[in-house]
Amino acid sequence: MDITVMDAPEHERVVEFKDTSLGLLGYIAVHSTQRGPAAGGVRMRPYDHAAEALTDALLLARGMTFKNAAADLALGGGKAVIVGDPAVDKSAELLRAFGRAVQSLNGTYWTAEDMGMTPADMAHIGEGTDFVAGLAEGEFASGDPSPITARGIFNALCVTAQHRFGVPALNGLTVSVQGLGHVGEHLCQLLHEAGARLIVTDIDSRQTARVAERFAAQAVAPDAIYGAGADIFAPCAIGGILNPHSIPQLKVGAVTGGANNQLASEEAAQLLHKRGILYAPDFVANGGGIVNVATEILRVSDRASWVDQRLQALEQTMDRILTRAKTEAVSPHQIAESIVHEMLRQQAA
Ligand code: NAD
Repeated sequence: MDITVMDAPEHERVVEFKDTSLGLLGYIAVHSTQRGPAAGGVRMRPYDHAAEALTDALLLARGMTFKNAAADLALGGGKAVIVGDPAVDKSAELLRAFGRAVQSLNGTYWTAEDMGMTPADMAHIGEGTDFVAGLAEGEFASGDPSPITARGIFNALCVTAQHRFGVPALNGLTVSVQGLGHVGEHLCQLLHEAGARLIVTDIDSRQTARVAERFAAQAVAPDAIYGAGADIFAPCAIGGILNPHSIPQLKVGAVTGGANNQLASEEAAQLLHKRGILYAPDFVANGGGIVNVATEILRVSDRASWVDQRLQALEQTMDRILTRAKTEAVSPHQIAESIVHEMLRQQAA
């Protein structure tokens, strides 16, 4: 396998890994190890170009620095991407080779699940490296992080509802959910149990139909989710979906979801703010997953109560961000970023 160091000035280390005999190509981006080893999952997607995959890795790694700091974890930010269709191109051999690429960074980067990956895949990756979390078995194994991610998003939705609508619970509110995968379906279950009405969509129409039936939800086509009238929109699929095209269509009072990098640009945060749509910063709302993964990396023995405490702390952080954003009349995204910058500055001092 070829491992090549790439030039990326705002990141501590970025490598390309390539094994043509296995059809393996991807990138590991270590954005920061200031707070601890860089941690962030590996995503496998059929990217159109290698450059698109690299950009995704760089942005996601930076996002992990912010997410891990916002959750007050002793972890830095990193991410890996593999170019390929997980349904077709993923094999045990390819995952083991990726594990060896992770191992070559000597513990400065820890990997785990992201889109296109499962706990079983983590076991194959673990045959090539010691620095893998999200395993299904083992002393500190934390398994699939999605249920905890969904709990964190649900808590963030409650905080948002309080700030935007002045109600302490989601009972009777309508939430539109985009993406009904690992996170989206768990979230729908929590919302349904809390008495929220649901509008749901997925690009997989069978999944949409199944989830809609399971939770008595209204199913809509993927493009129709932006214009669906609801109280809160919960993006739980891909990034970049809050942009100048989608934002004018929104008929909601708030956006709170689990997808990473929902804002296509800084401008998108301003557009939402100008429209009076309260945006709960994604890297705070979806921090539950990395909290769960962190129990494995940091070898936490009292896992359940440690996770509960961290989820509560995340909820309080969201509350502080939304309160400050209101007082200062700025976008919550701006406040969330400045809080993390401040944390990193203080730690560096
Ligand atoms: P997943 O692959 O299990 O599910 C994603 C779902 O979104 C799939 O069902 C897919 O068909 C659907 N989808 C893709 N594009 C869509 C579109 N344009 N419109 C509607 N549906 C679309 O992934 P996941 O683990 O549920 O993660 C979802 C999002 O949450 C991702 O952005 C991920 O990075 C983020 N996230 C996940 C976790 C976790 O614990 N899994 C933690 C933090 C953040």
